[in-house]
Amino acid sequence: MSNSDEVAVGIDLGTTYSCVGVWQHDRVEIITNDLGNRTTPSCVAFTETERFIGEAATNQAALNPLNTVFDAKRLIGRKFSDSTVQSDMKFWPFKVIGDCDKKPKIVVNYKGVERQFSPEELSSMVLLRMKEIAEDYLGKNVTNVVVTVPAHFSDSQRQATKDAARIAGLNVLRILVEPTAAAVAYGLDKQLTSSSAGEKVVLIFDLGGGTFDVSLLKIKKDNVKVLATAGDTHLGGEDFDNRLLNHVVEDFKTKYKKDISRDAKSLRRLRNACEKAKRFLSHTGTTTINVDSLHEGIDYSAKITRAKFENLNLDLFRSCVDTVKKCLEDAGMDKSKVDDVVLVGGSTRIPKVQQLLQQFFNGKELCKNINPEEAVAYGAAVQAAIISGEHNQKIMNLELLDVTPLSLGARYYGGIFHVIIPRNTSIPNSTTEKCYTSRDNQTTVGFNVFEGERARAADNKLLGKFELSDLPLAPRAKVEMEVTFTIDADGVLNVSAENKITGTKNSITIKREGILTEEEIEKMIKDAKQFKAEDEEFSKVKARVAFDGCVYKIRDMSEENDKLEASVKSMISYYFKEATQWIDANPDAEAYEYEYKKRQFEATCSQLIPGSAQDSES
Ligand code: ADP
Ligand code: MG
Repeated sequence: MSNSDEVAVGIDLGTTYSCVGVWQHDRVEIITNDLGNRTTPSCVAFTETERFIGEAATNQAALNPLNTVFDAKRLIGRKFSDSTVQSDMKFWPFKVIGDCDKKPKIVVNYKGVERQFSPEELSSMVLLRMKEIAEDYLGKNVTNVVVTVPAHFSDSQRQATKDAARIAGLNVLRILVEPTAAAVAYGLDKQLTSSSAGEKVVLIFDLGGGTFDVSLLKIKKDNVKVLATAGDTHLGGEDFDNRLLNHVVEDFKTKYKKDISRDAKSLRRLRNACEKAKRFLSHTGTTTINVDSLHEGIDYSAKITRAKFENLNLDLFRSCVDTVKKCLEDAGMDKSKVDDVVLVGGSTRIPKVQQLLQQFFNGKELCKNINPEEAVAYGAAVQAAIISGEHNQKIMNLELLDVTPLSLGARYYGGIFHVIIPRNTSIPNSTTEKCYTSRDNQTTVGFNVFEGERARAADNKLLGKFELSDLPLAPRAKVEMEVTFTIDADGVLNVSAENKITGTKNSITIKREGILTEEEIEKMIKDAKQFKAEDEEFSKVKARVAFDGCVYKIRDMSEENDKLEASVKSMISYYFKEATQWIDANPDAEAYEYEYKKRQFEATCSQLIPGSAQDSES
């Protein structure tokens, strides 16, 4: 059912950068934000007066490190006691607190008050920003989305990501795994869906800002399956930036005999310059890092060659290829069997990374015709269009099947975990098996539903339980029951058991919710609305102040300019009065109204005093 007022978008919620795409005019469009960027930093900052999301947050990070939060994706759906949370925490400038079994909370100071946010709330703020970017571009409300998560995300991480979307006022049509999304983006290009012949093995090489993921996929005519995953949760562009940063810090020491490694602000500025240089070096052979007044008034400048950059990072680049090797070994797949190698993630733009990977695959051409940092959002946008019914010749019937991240089953006799739906099974799925009583004259059988990969049921996660009673009296194993596990497209699991002879039945539905309760989510939705209102309120104030400032500035320019004719001055004075009266009479106008009035005022005045509009911006 396609509704012209409803557009569904695809969002790649990345660890360091996020990206949003939409299917429109027979193709995917990656949507640029208000700064013209196609990806937006997954960063949120809080200050005395306002909240920033995206570039505005990263730009002020050096000045406000304690209240600038990034990496929420590393926390989402995890417990505070989780070993990765404990080790990541040591490196974050912001404060994370929590009780063992509870989810972590990030503590910040917002408008002078200490506030605690869950990772879901922080991710929801990034998602809200992406929603707004899409809405600004499309000119209509956006609620339906496909959101991507890494293939190795557990069920609770996936559910928590869904919760984050709900808090942002979004309706998640589907959670899609990132490599599958990239494969969809890629599959469209190759018209894979139209070729009925066989299947393809695709390796997705995703090297982003802080994480490295390798996934091996099997793509058939109408489904994509994850065969194996490997990677390094702490390897990516930021590590390459750090290597370059360490190098220039040493260089500064040699040149000026001064150590800046403890000067956090200078380091931050230098790190930004290093990241920029790194990006340049993907296109050119040499570049210069320039930072004015870096430390004690010294202007720093250093020439960096691509060869130098590669040298500083060669071991890291090589380790990426080792991981690919390991992934293939784990899957028992020879590299010659890989049909396509797909580049994903901004860091795959580095020529040396491409070269080493291509070498490993004996010179095979790599798939890089889609911008690597956009490929995931691209695929998510395609999937969003398919689900929301924007059927199209180009999309055709490619039906993407999500998979179960962990095996689902029940505890059987002896406490063993009997798997009924194995991990990586495409969903939706329904599987029925027969099972039998384990004692003589057993009239009641308990079904304990677990998920996990361990052989002993107790080592896995108990999802729920129910009983089947009123069974007929009979010797052990003589009473037959049918147990059915059904998992729908949203991951909701229903387990039922039935005795065909007596007709007794029972079942349980397990809504695979995140670790947030309904009430918690409701409260967070309310808070999110309030924050948004506060942001809007503040942007109104800012727009009003900007208009006000501009009016006075132009009036002053006119009065101080001896060369202006008296008639011009009196006209400016007239417009000035008119504008200030309007401002006083409209203390509660919307931001766009102030902006419109300001532009109008500037346009009028610039005809009278050439150059006044530009000057008033400063
Ligand atoms: P995420 O890991 O959050 O999914 P991306 O895939 O967008 O993010 O990757 C972001 C990383 O890619 C950053 O470290 C950025 O510096 C790096 N990057 C972006 N463009 C280039 C480029 N031209 N050359 C090298 N690295 C790049
Ligand atoms: Mg990514």
